[in-house]
Amino acid sequence: MDEIVYRIINFVILFGALGFACRKMIKNMFGGRREKISRELAEAEDAKERAKSLQGDMESARLKNEERRAKLMEDARLQAEMTKRETERSGELEAQSLKDNALQSEPQLRKEMQSRVAADAIRKVAQTASEVLKDGSFEASKQALNERFIQQIKDLVSAMPSDILNMNELKKLDISIKSAEPLSDEEMQRITRILCETFISCRNEVDSELIGGVRMQVGDTVYDGTLSHQLDRLSRDVESNTLMSDKESLSVAEEIRNKLRATDGKVDVFQTGTVVTLGDGICRVSGLADVMAGEMLEFPGGLKGMVQDLERDNVGVVLMGDFSHIQEGDEVRRTGRIIEVPVGDCLIGRVVDAMGTPIDDKGPLNAQSFRAVESPAPSVLHRKSVSVPMQTGLKAIDALVPIGRGQRELIIGDRQTGKTAIALDAIINQKGKDVICIYVAIGQKESTIAGVVDKLRKAGAMDYSIVVAANASEPAPMLYIAPYAGAAMGEYFMYDGRDVLIVYDDLSKQAAAYREISLLLQRPPGREAYPGDVFYLHSRLLERAARLSEDAGGGSMTALPIIETQAGDISAYIPTNVISITDGQIFLETDLFHSGVRPAINVGLSVSRVGGAAQIGAMKQVAGRLRVDLAQYRELASFAQFGSDLDKATRDTLHRGARMTEILKQKQYSPMSAADQVIAIFAASEGFTDDVELEDIARFEEELIAFVNRNYPELHDEIMSGKKLSAEQQEKLRSNIRKFKETF
Ligand code: ATP
Ligand code: MG
Repeated sequence: MDEIVYRIINFVILFGALGFACRKMIKNMFGGRREKISRELAEAEDAKERAKSLQGDMESARLKNEERRAKLMEDARLQAEMTKRETERSGELEAQSLKDNALQSEPQLRKEMQSRVAADAIRKVAQTASEVLKDGSFEASKQALNERFIQQIKDLVSAMPSDILNMNELKKLDISIKSAEPLSDEEMQRITRILCETFISCRNEVDSELIGGVRMQVGDTVYDGTLSHQLDRLSRDVESNTLMSDKESLSVAEEIRNKLRATDGKVDVFQTGTVVTLGDGICRVSGLADVMAGEMLEFPGGLKGMVQDLERDNVGVVLMGDFSHIQEGDEVRRTGRIIEVPVGDCLIGRVVDAMGTPIDDKGPLNAQSFRAVESPAPSVLHRKSVSVPMQTGLKAIDALVPIGRGQRELIIGDRQTGKTAIALDAIINQKGKDVICIYVAIGQKESTIAGVVDKLRKAGAMDYSIVVAANASEPAPMLYIAPYAGAAMGEYFMYDGRDVLIVYDDLSKQAAAYREISLLLQRPPGREAYPGDVFYLHSRLLERAARLSEDAGGGSMTALPIIETQAGDISAYIPTNVISITDGQIFLETDLFHSGVRPAINVGLSVSRVGGAAQIGAMKQVAGRLRVDLAQYRELASFAQFGSDLDKATRDTLHRGARMTEILKQKQYSPMSAADQVIAIFAASEGFTDDVELEDIARFEEELIAFVNRNYPELHDEIMSGKKLSAEQQEKLRSNIRKFKETF
C-alpha cells in the first residue's frame, strides 16, 4: 500500500518539474498560433466586403438580361406569325393546283389502268383456256361432268318456295335441262327419276275395298275409276231419287247389275280436302285449292256444305244439316256445282227442307231438274210492269193496299199480330187462280209449321203449294239458305211462264241466322252486330221477285216477305232495310189486333206503291171513297174521344167510319172473292150500313153478299172482268141492296 502511495507522489513531482521546464516553449508555441488566426480573420472580412459588391453587379446584369430576353421573344413571335401566314397561303395554292392536276389526269389514268388490267386478264384467261384445251384428258372428263351433275342434283334438288308458288299459280312446274351434247336416254331417265322423287311422291297401295279398278290422287284431285266408286255413286242416286218400296227393291239388284255392267271404266275426276276444324255448324277445310265461293261440298254421310269463305290455305264451310257425325280429318269432296235444290212440279204439294229434301211422308221427289240456290235476279230488260192483281182475299188489303203479280209487299208487325194469318189467307185465296204458292218457314217451331201445313191441306191449298221449312231447331245455315231455296223453286215456275206467290216467314230470323254464321266465320260485326252485307242478304233475295216480259218467260213471282218488329219499331235496322227494298208494306199493330180490328192493318202506315195499277176497275171505284172516308174518320176519331158535343157532320163521319172499319174486319181462313168484296164495300160507302148496328154488320155483310149473288148473279163476272161499274150496274146493285134491306 505504502509502495503505491510513493509511486503516485513520485509521478506528481516528476510531472511538475517537467511542466516548469517546458513552460516557455509552450508559451511561444501558442502565441504564434493566435497571431496567425487573427490575420486570417481580417482577410475573411475583406473577402466578405468584396463579395457584397459583386452581388450588386450580378443583380443589375440579371435585370438587363431579362429585358433583352423579352425583346427577343417578342421579335421571334412576330417573325413566326408572319412566316406561318405566308406558308399557309402558299400551301393552299399548292394543294389546289395538285388537286386540279389530279382531276385532269384521273380519267386518263383510269382508262389506262383498265385497259392494262383487262388486257392482262384476257391474256391470262386465254392462256389458261388454251392450256386446258390443249390438255388431252379434257375430252374424257366431259362425260365425268355429266355424271357428276346427275350425282349431285340427287342431293341438291328440292322444292323451293317459288316452285310451290309456281305450282299453285301456273298449275305446272317447268323443268328445262340444257346440255352441251344430247344426254343419253339412260341419263335422261335418271334425271327424270330424281325429279319425280323430289316433286312427286307416287306409290301404289293395294286396297281390296275398292273391289276393282284404280284410284289415283294428285294433290287434292282424285281420278277414280274403281268399282267401289261406281257403287257409291249408285247408292247416292238411289238415296236422293228413290226411296225403295218393297216392289221396287226387287228391281234394285237388277238395276245395280245393269249399271255396273254399263260401267265403261270411265274415270271420275273430283277434288278432295280435309276437315281441319269444326264447330257450331261451321268448319274449315284444307286442300280444295280450286273450290268456288258458294260451291256445294259433300261430307261423309251425304251431308252437304256450302263454301262461304275463301282463305289462303283453307275454306270456311257452313254445314247444311246434322253435323254431329263429322270429325276433324274427314274427307270432303268437291261437287263443282253451286249449291242447288230440286225444282219442278214434283215439289208441288210437298213439304221439304232448305235443301229440297222431303220431310213429309210422301216418298222421294224424283226431281228431274235442279236449280242453283243463288242466281242473279232478272235484269231490267227482262221485266214488265205490274198489271195483274194478286188478290189476297182480304178486303182491307185488296181495297187499300192492292198487290200486283210480281210485286214485293212486306208484311210487318210485332209478334202475334196476324202476319202469318194474312200470308196464309193470301195462299188459300189463290185456289183456282193458277198460282203456285211457296210458303218458306224460317226459324219457326216444328209444331207451328205442322199447323200451317194442316191448315193449308184442309183448305185444299196444298194442291198448288210447296212448303219449305227450316225450323228453329235446325242449324243456322239452313235458316239462312231456306229463302234462297224457296226463291229458286219459284224461279223455275216463273221462267216457265207461270205465276208464283212466295211467302218468306220471316226474314228477321234469316237475318239473325246470317248474323250467327258471320260472327262464327269471324267477319267484322257492324250495326246491331249484323255483318256489313246484311242489306244485300235481303235485296238479292227480293230482287228475284219479278214480272217477266214475254221474251224472258212471261211468268211472275210475287213476294210477301214478313218481318217481325220489336214493340212496333219499324225504324230498326232490318225493318228499314226491308221496307226500302220492297214495293210497299202492310203494317200490323198490336193495339188494333187486341181491340178486335182483325186483320190489324194500320191503314195510315200501310202502302202499296205499284199495286194500284193492278187493281180491278170496280174495286178502284169503291176503294177511292173508302180511303177518303177512313182517313177522315181516323182524323176525327183521335180527338172526338175527348168531346161529347159534336156537330152532326162530325157525328155522321164517325158513324160511317166505324161501319167502314167494321166492314173491313175479316175472319181468318175465309178469303173473299173480289166481287164479294166490292159488294160489301159498295154498300158501306153508299151509306146502306149507316142504320145497321155495329154488331150486326158482319151478319149484314154475309147475308147481303149471298142475296146479291142470288138475285144478280151476272154482277160477279161483270166485276171480275176488271172493268169499272157503269152507272146502270151501280144502280142495279143499289136496288138489290135496298131490296135486301127490306128483308134484313
Ligand atoms: P208470330 O209472331 O208468332 O209469327 P203472327 O204475327 O204470325 O205471330 P199469327 O200467328 O198469324 O200472328 O196470328 C196470331 C193469332 O191471331 C193466331 O192465333 C191467329 O189465329 C189469330 N188471328 C190472326 N188473324 C186473325 C183474324 N183475322 N181473325 C181472328 N184471329 C186471327
Ligand atoms: Mg207468324
